Amino acid sequence: MPKTEVLIVGGGVTGAGIARDLALRGTSVMLLEKEDFSTGATGRSHGMLHSGGRYAVKDPESAMDCAREGVILKRIASYCIEDTGGLFIGIEDDDPTYVDRFLRGCAETGVQAKEITTKEALSLEPRLSSRVSSSVEVLDASIDPFALTLGNVEDARDCGAEILNYRVVQRFLVQEGRIQEVIFENLRNGSRESVRPEVVVNASGAWVDNVASLAGLRIPMSIDKGTLVVFNGRLVNRLINRLRMPSDGDIIVPSHSASIVGTTSDRVDSVEDFVVDRSDVDLLISEGQSMVPDLRHARAIRAYAGVRPLLGGRKEGRDISRTYRVIDHEEEGIDNLVSIVGGKLTTYRLMAEKTSDLIMCKLGSAGHCITASEPISNPMAAKTVRDLLAFPLIRMNRKYGDEQTDIIAGCTSSLRGKEILCTCEEVLRGEAEYFCSREDVMRLSDVMRRTRIGMGYCQAGLCIFDMASVMMEHSNQEPLDLIGHYLRERWKGVEPVLFGSQLRQEVFKRYLYDGVYHLESLLGGEAR
Ligand SMILES: Cc1cc2nc3c(=O)[nH]c(=O)nc-3n(C[C@H](O)[C@H](O)[C@H](O)COP(=O)(O)OP(=O)(O)OC[C@H]3O[C@@H](n4cnc5c(N)ncnc54)[C@H](O)[C@@H]3O)c2cc1C
Repeated sequence: MPKTEVLIVGGGVTGAGIARDLALRGTSVMLLEKEDFSTGATGRSHGMLHSGGRYAVKDPESAMDCAREGVILKRIASYCIEDTGGLFIGIEDDDPTYVDRFLRGCAETGVQAKEITTKEALSLEPRLSSRVSSSVEVLDASIDPFALTLGNVEDARDCGAEILNYRVVQRFLVQEGRIQEVIFENLRNGSRESVRPEVVVNASGAWVDNVASLAGLRIPMSIDKGTLVVFNGRLVNRLINRLRMPSDGDIIVPSHSASIVGTTSDRVDSVEDFVVDRSDVDLLISEGQSMVPDLRHARAIRAYAGVRPLLGGRKEGRDISRTYRVIDHEEEGIDNLVSIVGGKLTTYRLMAEKTSDLIMCKLGSAGHCITASEPISNPMAAKTVRDLLAFPLIRMNRKYGDEQTDIIAGCTSSLRGKEILCTCEEVLRGEAEYFCSREDVMRLSDVMRRTRIGMGYCQAGLCIFDMASVMMEHSNQEPLDLIGHYLRERWKGVEPVLFGSQLRQEVFKRYLYDGVYHLESLLGGEAR
């Protein structure tokens, strides 16, 4: 049976960050993720690198962590960050005293903030409402959560870590107060496998309680759903936050070719089984419009929801701190299990550092953390950069870390490699080919998370066939199964925004899929 020093459960940004941290310290690591990387809360976030401003009044510890980590991430992960800057804006009816509390909170927590006049704010962001009454500039930025996670995964692999997706951890064999064996299912071939770890890390986000229960333990969690709506095009250049206590619909994030409006906060019972409610979509659009009225004319292209892994109690979602806790389960009788709970995407590196410190103690090893200074990637190292069109290249800089060199080489080595497969997101055939040939990639949505193919306003309306044909060169799966799975998943996000242009486009796509390609049987009852 294979052995490893550390076995990590969960391939969101936290698990990937811990794998990288430990691998850089010379520890042997295996990570198991039940789906693709970033399919949990990580890939369902806004992609906001918090300056700390959002928490400066209500949650000072989170604010301080975000302020410090924001600076570090801009240094070590610049390839996947767009340093847009941010504005907190108050609207005429908002509490006029909040701006002073906000500025005081920022000063006390080390969050850089500068009040500016409404005239200055409108000159920076002309689409803001004319009802803006107060404005504060902060250091918020936009971060690509998929690229960040994959950068950590690839770096960890480069240091010898074994990082595997589509592996579901199902059982812990506990004897004499230790997890002796971890049993998991390999979803690629249905086989049951096991590994003998010295330490197990539970980095499974909102699933932490489920995973802890495999060792007979409980971690009380609050499962809090947040919904977001994606609009086509960039309506603002900076991240816009409402200058009030965190509430529904008060964030707009410019992200690649889109604008993301979020979010809501609702307690839910299940980590897996939750849907996007149309009432949440309507609320987000109306709240978003009070900051940027042009949202009224913008095209909502999809909606999605994620669940926040918040540490327990009876409090409501927004009242629970966004700080994190590293739990050593030794006191509860399991010597070699550590759980990491709560936190933010912005603070993942710090969470990974603190978790890894404890693990190193348990292993009785030396080795200190270097992730605060060691860059995740060096995207500008590409030699073949000049061979590519400028626009896709700028995008590649932000999507891929060290892998960029290989991907560009694939795009430029043949004429077909430079062909544009997805016109909305400017994704080249060479990019899709590179990832379709990788072992991690099993489904069309895995190619999408890595390249952004199909994420644009047409939601893979046409490029799905090209995507499937590239995939078929590397897979022996049934093409109709691949396409059917992808279309049903996309439908979940498109259905809640079926109005205006997006509705007209879906009707057109249905004629095309049913009338030309006879794909009606693939779409499933609800999608018809
Ligand atoms: C709506 C929303 C918006 C957000 N916006 C932001 C933001 O803008 N900025 C920010 O800083 N933070 C944001 N957050 C918070 C942030 O997304 C999370 O704190 C962070 O992504 C959590 O990462 P994680 O790796 O701990 O959890 P996840 O990303 O959920 O990863 C856990 C992984 O464990 C896997 N897993 C579970 N059980 C098993 C098993 N048995 N075997 C194998 N694998 C398993 C899951 O499949 C999952 O991939 C947001 C959260 C939500 C919900």
